[in-house]
Amino acid sequence: MENKKCQFKAEIAEMLDLVVNSLYSKKEIFLRELVSNASDAIDRAKFLSLTDKSIAEDNPEWKIEISVDKSAGTLMVSDNGIGMDSAELEKNLGTIASSGTKAFREALKEKGVSPDGGAGAAKRSLEGCDSLPELIGQFGVGFYAAFMVADRVRVVSRRRGGEGAVMWESTLDGGYEISESQRDGYGTSVMLHLRDDQKEYLDRWRVADIIRRYSDFIAYPVTFRQIDIPADEKEDDRKRRLEDEAKPLNTMTALWKRPKKDVKDSEYAEFYKHLTRDWEDPFETIPFSGEGQVEFKALLFLPSKATMELFMPAQKRGLSLYVRNVFIGDDMEMLLPSWLRFVKGVVDSSDLPLNVSREMLQDDAVVQKIKAAVTSKVLSTLEEMKKKDLKRYDEFFGRFGAVLKEGAYNDWTYRERLNKLIKFPTARGEAGKTVFLEDYVKDMAPGQADIYYIVAEREEDARRAPQLESARKHGCDVLLFCDPVDEFLSESLREFDGKKFVDVAKGDVAFGSEEERKAEKEANDKAAGELKGFIEAVKKELGEKVSDVRVSTRLEDSPCCLVASEGGISPSMARMMRAMKETVPEEKRILELNAEHPLVKKVSALTGSALSDAVSTLYDSALVAEGSPVPDGAAFAKRIAALMMGGV
Ligand code: ADP
Repeated sequence: MENKKCQFKAEIAEMLDLVVNSLYSKKEIFLRELVSNASDAIDRAKFLSLTDKSIAEDNPEWKIEISVDKSAGTLMVSDNGIGMDSAELEKNLGTIASSGTKAFREALKEKGVSPDGGAGAAKRSLEGCDSLPELIGQFGVGFYAAFMVADRVRVVSRRRGGEGAVMWESTLDGGYEISESQRDGYGTSVMLHLRDDQKEYLDRWRVADIIRRYSDFIAYPVTFRQIDIPADEKEDDRKRRLEDEAKPLNTMTALWKRPKKDVKDSEYAEFYKHLTRDWEDPFETIPFSGEGQVEFKALLFLPSKATMELFMPAQKRGLSLYVRNVFIGDDMEMLLPSWLRFVKGVVDSSDLPLNVSREMLQDDAVVQKIKAAVTSKVLSTLEEMKKKDLKRYDEFFGRFGAVLKEGAYNDWTYRERLNKLIKFPTARGEAGKTVFLEDYVKDMAPGQADIYYIVAEREEDARRAPQLESARKHGCDVLLFCDPVDEFLSESLREFDGKKFVDVAKGDVAFGSEEERKAEKEANDKAAGELKGFIEAVKKELGEKVSDVRVSTRLEDSPCCLVASEGGISPSMARMMRAMKETVPEEKRILELNAEHPLVKKVSALTGSALSDAVSTLYDSALVAEGSPVPDGAAFAKRIAALMMGGV
């Protein structure tokens, strides 16, 4: 094999610069990252050994060793896990999955950093940005944390089932080099040449302390060894040293098997970080066991931040499944419904066969039972949170509510429970405040039979919508459906507590008591009669733009608005479907006029081109009022200018 000198992909160079120069104080977490990687590599080898005889025959004693050479100033983390061949080294340590990179750049951009301004620029504007470590962790770049303490990193790896060993080496600024190498057994060694001011990591006590703090639960022994032993070592010292070297630094206890009362919150938090590569503590920790038909232990976490899975399903890392202590996989979507894809954790069951294939697991009755139990447990945790600590629930809902709504519209099994957990802002409520459906129902106006809602892309647009006016006047609150998912939800929400859901911007709506509605209808019919000629003229003027023109029951202050017919599709839904490249039939809507409005009265008296201009302006302003684009903005602006100049 020829030696290969490579440059890091531009994004990596940029990110490395950020990592190394981040003001993050806890540089010690580099060790957690390397030990977690080693543990993952052993997990994978152990899983392969179930089907690969050669690994089983090798019968390795799975372990992770940290060795230091004080005179050379190096620290090495070695494992006997799966190992990497040269292609894998290049792929895993030379590039980040392109989707990850893109997301990383976007996240940076969101923080107001322009990565295109070069690494230096990005670094400068990130100074003091305390979310940097979180960003780094979130995008699976843990290995690079090594460069926070080292100026040179050398990885020597030998892939199980592969050829010889390969070496990857980087001094960071000069890219990296891949070459042939030697290694006794299979696995990976990561050697760090520590920077001068980072020599504390050569010390056994310091390393032991870090391992106990961050990696105690790692399932394989993590040992410590010093290589450069002084020649004149005393016999007693030698004995003590060998004893120490044989003793693992970690207790290796599977956290999910220990009773909850014996585990500290900080231990759960570190385990969560190991599992998810998140750098923040979990929002909620849920340890529980399934008993009865299926025996299993589970440890679930709700993250503190929206996770990658919400936006990038390809990066999925769901629940980790262990069967009799053997790690089977961490992309176990079959253990959770997709609307709980933000839940992380471990499920460990001895009721599943070890030699399972994923396809088999999918249909397995035991898996189905575990899935039902896990789902129900998460829901009951949320129900409890809602009851006991609404503020905390709101915090959770702000991050993951939209995903729960997905469940409410497409998962019939849990719909009823989910309907009690989802929340919406309302026209009457303050901005940012949301209510449960049951609260809405409790506060319904006397005589109000239905639950009213309006769909818009933005909460501000919904609040200002003219279609709300009459509802407001009759004391009826209106739910504001402004999450993209709400639009779909509105299609499937039929009833809550026996009350129908009614879109105030669709079809015929009438508010108030039976009598009020009757009186209003009579007044409307009368107004329609009086405006008959005008309505006909408007219809003629607007032609194909609308399906009908009629007198409105929903307006108070605005002269007009556009509404969809019953069963018609709303403009925001149409825009969303078009954005998803679906063909959407052009939906013509109904223009409703407020017969009482002075402007309508004034326009109805016009004739000729003045009438024509005024009708077009009325129609365009109805579009503007609901947040829809005006088809011919230039013409609209011209008419407005003419109006301002004193014309009509
Ligand atoms: P992450 O572990 O979050 O995926 P890292 O940057 O830490 O991100 O590692 C990148 C990839 O390199 C890992 O996904 C893994 O495939 C590979 N890797 C890292 N360390 C080891 C190791 N000790 N043995 C085998 N593969 C490893």
